[in-house]
Amino acid sequence: MLNIVIFGPPGAGKGTQSELIIEKYKLVHLSTGDILRNEIANKTPLGIEAKKIIEKGELVSDDIVIGMVKNKIEGNMTGNGFIFDGFPRTKEQAEALDKILEDNNTSISVMISLDVDEDELVKRLLKRAEEQGRTDDNIDVIRNRIKVYNEVTSHVCDYYSKKNKYRSIPGTGTIEEIFDRISAVLDEYAPKRSCCG
Ligand code: UDP
Ligand code: MG
Repeated sequence: MLNIVIFGPPGAGKGTQSELIIEKYKLVHLSTGDILRNEIANKTPLGIEAKKIIEKGELVSDDIVIGMVKNKIEGNMTGNGFIFDGFPRTKEQAEALDKILEDNNTSISVMISLDVDEDELVKRLLKRAEEQGRTDDNIDVIRNRIKVYNEVTSHVCDYYSKKNKYRSIPGTGTIEEIFDRISAVLDEYAPKRSCCG
């Protein structure tokens, strides 16, 4: 299996690049943010709880997101692999993910981190606010999301770095340019095709 973590601050382009990656490498997209927004849209008890946290730009608890991820992994073990988008966000989540994958006889191949500076992130998220109307894309919440990223989530890099699985890529340029950089890394890990077709 090819199992990738796509990593980076809010607005780095994880969701956009994930769409291109799943298409090329035929992976299952596992975005915990999307799952949570779906729970909110369906007004489930989990969604109602998560909404309050997300609107402050804080993190939903490890137990909740780990449970969601476990279900989705165990329901899709027959595929080519997964792309984890927006997860893990804490070291505890990274450890839990390794354990779940190990129990299913697989592991993370590589983490790709998209590197984008803070001014550019804020610009992108404010533009997304106009286009998509996400309630957490307003300036105060954006600043807190970036703060939580810097204080908590950014340390997840060290976890993968110690395992020699961390690759950083410039997240600026055109969508195609960034995707080409990602593809160059993933081609090192993807199973080789057997023929020229
Ligand atoms: N979130 C969370 N845990 C997750 C995924 C999302 O707590 O595993 C919450 C968090 O409040 C975050 C929001 O959902 O700010 C949106 O997450 P998403 O990954 O969709 O946004 P991005 O950071 O990619 O803009
Ligand atoms: Mg996203």
